[in-house]
Amino acid sequence: MKVSVLLPFCLLPFAAEAQQAVVIEHATLIDGSGGAPLQDAALLLEGGRIVRIAPTGRIETPAGAETIDAAGKTVIPGMINLHGHVGLTKGLSQAQEYYTRANVIENLGVYAAYGVTTTTSMGTDLDLVAGIRDEIDGGSLTGIARVVPALQGFTVRNGYPTHAPGVKGLAQEVTSAQDARKRVDMLAGKGARVVKMWVDDHHDTFDKLTPDLYGAIIDQAHKRGLIAAAHLYELADAKGLVDAGLDAIVHSVRDKEVDGGLIRRLLAKNVAYSPTLTREKSTFVYADGPAWPADPFFANRVEAAILAALKTDLREAQAKDPERQINIDGFHMAMRNLKKLADAGVRIGFGTDTGPPGRFPGYFEHWEAELMVEAGLTPMQVIRSFSKNASEALRIDRERGTLAEGKYADLIILNKNPLGNIRNLREMDAVYIGGVRVSPAGAPR
Ligand SMILES: [Zn+2]
Repeated sequence: MKVSVLLPFCLLPFAAEAQQAVVIEHATLIDGSGGAPLQDAALLLEGGRIVRIAPTGRIETPAGAETIDAAGKTVIPGMINLHGHVGLTKGLSQAQEYYTRANVIENLGVYAAYGVTTTTSMGTDLDLVAGIRDEIDGGSLTGIARVVPALQGFTVRNGYPTHAPGVKGLAQEVTSAQDARKRVDMLAGKGARVVKMWVDDHHDTFDKLTPDLYGAIIDQAHKRGLIAAAHLYELADAKGLVDAGLDAIVHSVRDKEVDGGLIRRLLAKNVAYSPTLTREKSTFVYADGPAWPADPFFANRVEAAILAALKTDLREAQAKDPERQINIDGFHMAMRNLKKLADAGVRIGFGTDTGPPGRFPGYFEHWEAELMVEAGLTPMQVIRSFSKNASEALRIDRERGTLAEGKYADLIILNKNPLGNIRNLREMDAVYIGGVRVSPAGAPR
């Protein structure tokens, strides 16, 4: 008798055993669509996916499933970051030799611990990241954030940001429209799903992509089924890029207040706009000796030597930065523009530009959410920006984004409801990616 019960278990494949079914009960469910939360909800996670969402008591619990009583807790979608970078940074420096499988996996592990279940890597990548992406999405590599890499982004010869450490040779320096099209084809062949462009003369210090070049990149990207995303700074470039068919703006417009002309263009094509407010802050905040690096939610995940360098090397460098005032003004313009665009109904897609030195994956996504609320958005708008909006912008919404039956089980269980206070996003009880539980930052490990 005993043997006949045990035998089927012995024959179960390992993967099925690793992904035990989970039923989360009595939760407040915020699904990321922007609609009213569902009270006393239950979710069945099985095989890495959300199999069923229903009122508690209306789901049949499969034999052997783990049941989680989430009474008083809130379930939200995992965060999707429309603008991140992986692999290139160690401590406070950046170099191509750091870009290893181990470093990429470590970075994705940090994102995961803070509830970022998908990040992009925007154009400063080695090809090896595409293989890691496939392993994660195939379920053979678990416990880390998923990644959507743009591989090698586009600029002009010696254009921004080829001066940045480690970027020369990764950013593709295009010379003609024909050259640009060939390079987009090459990226498509290597498995990129997003094409990244830098359109920035950095206050007249670099040449930048011209409309004929970025027009060719965007057109060829669309021919190959890829999403076209751009780093930019100026309002005029934003308009030109959207006219050329751009899908996502992955920084704030910072030189001017956005106007009706840009708003009309963004609404007409439902272009995503990613504010990266923390990126702006990171360019000057360290000079002020901020208190947050001592916050355990940050400090527990960062080496002591790096924490010390924030207060010394980086602080001194930023204090004497000749662009300091420009950076501060740019941040305030970004805050105003975000509110104006959100009020106009533009698709705000959550993004931070984390990964480069001084811009810390995970912690900065939480700070970004807080800054978005400071800019005037509601917590519900922020949640929608990192679930529905970001997933649609990346065209991964069939499997990710809002919490719905059939999608990946990528979600966060929070001890407190974030709708009243966005800082409750930090109160993570558990993070799930593909139904696999990840130990969250701030929780006992
Ligand atoms: Zn970036």
